[in-house]
Amino acid sequence: MTTSKIKGKVYLVGAGPGEPGLITVRGAELLKLADCVICDKLANPALLNYVRPAAEIINAPKRTGKRSVTQEEINKLLVEKASKGQIVVRLKGGDPCIFGRGGEEAAILAQAGIDFEIVPGITAGIAAAEYAGIMLTDRNYSSEVIFATGHEADRKKKCGIDWQLLAKFNGTIVFYMAMENLKFIVGELIKNGMAEDMPAAVIADATLPGQKILQTSLKKICKECIKNEIEPPAIIIIGQAAKGNSKLNWFTKKPLFGKNIVVTRDEKGNAEFAAKIIQRGGNAIELATIKIKPLTQTNQFLKISAKLAEFNWVIFTSSNGVSIFFDALREMGKDGRVFGSAKIAAIGSETAAKLSEFGIRADFVPSVFTSEDLGKELKEYTNLREKKILLLRSEIASDELNKLLTQTGAEVQSAALYEIVTQKNKCERLKEQISKGIIDWLTFASPSSVKGFFEQISSDIKKANNVRIASIGPITSQELKKFGIKIDVEADEHTIDGLLAAIEGMYR
Ligand code: SAH
Repeated sequence: MTTSKIKGKVYLVGAGPGEPGLITVRGAELLKLADCVICDKLANPALLNYVRPAAEIINAPKRTGKRSVTQEEINKLLVEKASKGQIVVRLKGGDPCIFGRGGEEAAILAQAGIDFEIVPGITAGIAAAEYAGIMLTDRNYSSEVIFATGHEADRKKKCGIDWQLLAKFNGTIVFYMAMENLKFIVGELIKNGMAEDMPAAVIADATLPGQKILQTSLKKICKECIKNEIEPPAIIIIGQAAKGNSKLNWFTKKPLFGKNIVVTRDEKGNAEFAAKIIQRGGNAIELATIKIKPLTQTNQFLKISAKLAEFNWVIFTSSNGVSIFFDALREMGKDGRVFGSAKIAAIGSETAAKLSEFGIRADFVPSVFTSEDLGKELKEYTNLREKKILLLRSEIASDELNKLLTQTGAEVQSAALYEIVTQKNKCERLKEQISKGIIDWLTFASPSSVKGFFEQISSDIKKANNVRIASIGPITSQELKKFGIKIDVEADEHTIDGLLAAIEGMYR
């Protein structure tokens, strides 16, 4: 029998320009498969959420620290890891081969006889233009585009740029890595005959919540960059098309554009919340204040789960509860049929949506998403006398709902699906951001998050005048008041979408 060695492979993957959603479907799939991810400093770290926990992540070049990994070391790593049979993703900002040295890496792999694929990405020059409402090939102004690097511009002898050609070019010029040598670049273009009033635009941190756009002329661009504190990474666009059209500048018009919003749920909840903030143009800062621990191995739960069909109503009070419940069912080799003919109630639309992911349509959802309203409205909806009701909920839930339902003559039992524990974090950076007035909003989606947060960060909030507080609903607000915190906005609909709508309302 011949033993064949498992073959490794390297994928040179474009991470897109910044916003994590701009990676390709293929790129995201490969991140999920990878054994090792070697990540560029321009690739958004949020993309690493795709990576399996067991996979190795190497930052190269390093984000922090004095010594950066050299290109030679990266090349060596790629060959080494793939030779061991690993699936390696080399994740590079934008497109891997547009000013990205992807070509060099591919050549090294080819030479070493290692399989590789290149997965293109959306390059920063194209994304920056479109996120700024600038059309690089606007039919009125430009039938040609040049991508140029500003990096080697001052190495005069070796410089590969033909300034005469660029200065006379009739289309749009897109400069990468040009901030450092901007003065030199502008000087060369003007010296070689480009009009001083040629439109020019700078887009920094393109596609990200901190995106900055500057539209000016070639002559003024350096001074304007200093005045507006524009920092790399930035794309410079030169040519008539750089005038853009302010009506087409869609990105900065998103409802939460540029807002720094802290989310304080558990890790998974934060990730879902953060994605919604990013969709609205905001910057989500994730601080997991709580951890949700399943209690589905307890005798109480195991006993009750064996006789669910005996109940007339089963009530879920949170989407976390639903996920944990169905995870436990799956482990027991069971599915939604355990409910028999029992009817199902959900406290709100998010809980109902989670149920539907498991093929269950909630029979009842109250019009207002609190335990109290669920109790009141359910008893109006149906006669509960002598009905058997099961509450599946968190260990710390109050007895209010239980009491309300018992008063209707129902026979109520409850079982804890999970407990919530505080998660400790390193909060130094966040504290600093709060005191510097960088944070716009602190959001709270449950009383436990309020507790978890203020046990770690307390007096700092009251000192900061810029930061505002958003609460998902009355029970969370009550908890905030206990800590002496003034609430700026409370959601009308007690869901994450409702919370975001309330914050957006403050800017209208
Ligand atoms: N391979 C990358 C480019 C790498 S060179 C790509 O295809 O996009 C690095 C340069 O890209 C930076 O100096 C800057 O000019 C540009 N860049 C990358 N990300 C950017 C962003 N989010 N906003 C503006 N410019 C960006």
